Amino acid sequence: MTVVAEDRLIAPHGGMLVDRTGERPDDVDSLERVQLTSRELSDLDMIASGALSPLEGFMGQADYERVIEEMHLAGGLPWTLPVCLAVAGPPTGDRVVLTDGAGDPAAVLDVAEMFAYDKEQEAELCFRTTDHAHPGVARLYAQKPFYLAGRVTVFRRPAPPFPELALDPAETRRIFAERGWKRVVGFQTRNPIHRAHEYLTKVALETVDGLLVHPLVGDTKADDVPAEVRVECYQTLLGGYYPEERVLLSAFPAAMRYAGPREAIWHAICRKNYGCSHFIVGRDHAGVGGYYGTYDAQLIFDEFAAHELDVEPMFFEHTFWCSVCGSMASTKSCPHGPEDRVFLSGTKVREMLGAGEVPPVEFTRPEVARVLIDAYRG
Ligand SMILES: [Zn+2]
Repeated sequence: MTVVAEDRLIAPHGGMLVDRTGERPDDVDSLERVQLTSRELSDLDMIASGALSPLEGFMGQADYERVIEEMHLAGGLPWTLPVCLAVAGPPTGDRVVLTDGAGDPAAVLDVAEMFAYDKEQEAELCFRTTDHAHPGVARLYAQKPFYLAGRVTVFRRPAPPFPELALDPAETRRIFAERGWKRVVGFQTRNPIHRAHEYLTKVALETVDGLLVHPLVGDTKADDVPAEVRVECYQTLLGGYYPEERVLLSAFPAAMRYAGPREAIWHAICRKNYGCSHFIVGRDHAGVGGYYGTYDAQLIFDEFAAHELDVEPMFFEHTFWCSVCGSMASTKSCPHGPEDRVFLSGTKVREMLGAGEVPPVEFTRPEVARVLIDAYRG
């Protein structure tokens, strides 16, 4: 038996990787059922796998209040977003069955408490806005009026949309350890990777042992590029331009909340559970519309003491191809002006791809462009 040194890796948040998977109890059919939304199902599965360690279930009131007000769990660990289960009213028993969208049982929740919450307060504190047009706020306002808290035992997990990319935290940790990695940088994305993001992942990779490309495949906005197209882009790009033994591609099963700065911290904590010692934070991380300042998702890390989060953020500027430098660059490393940069707006890129035009190679790899052109035309 090969012994691999998983203890070289960063410890999970709170010290222990949670595992809330278990056997299906005999009395499932006699229990009251609570149907989960797609966001709640994502959270449930991440509790089961330990991606949300140290959470063992949906949050109670003490955790909830301290999280929204002070960005810490009641016990003092950093935590920035509520992980709660919204219900219409009190359950009849002390255990309930949690079902998926089709009504099929997935887990049992041991009821700890139920409490009322203030949607506007949660929106203001977590999303920095109470505007209904914000997708995270809109989802919050549509929720049922109480939160039901308690530890969960998950006996049926959802079929992953990309089985070959489905790796739980225990599995990514094992792979990192087998490859001898200690310093691992995580990259969150919900977009195709063009040259700008390729560059910053590679700059990060120059300084660490390995890179986890960890695209979010849970719920996103309808106008984001569909996950199946993105996954093909990632596979194409990694296959052609990254050293295979230094990169791992896996799917991050979370649903987007679009909570900007708070979600950046939450994303970093989740990746720590997957074994990442470092986490890339670009501009406008997890942002939407004009709700957050360009650097808010980087500045929020200063609100925590460095030792508190443990996982180390790596901050990046907007990057571009500079024709004078003859390389990818950013304003941190290149003195030339905007006229020397290859810049294309998101709208322009979509127009080109929709018309079957390949954008300049300085903007995106032609192999990736071809995947996107096929998707736009299909
Ligand atoms: Zn330059």
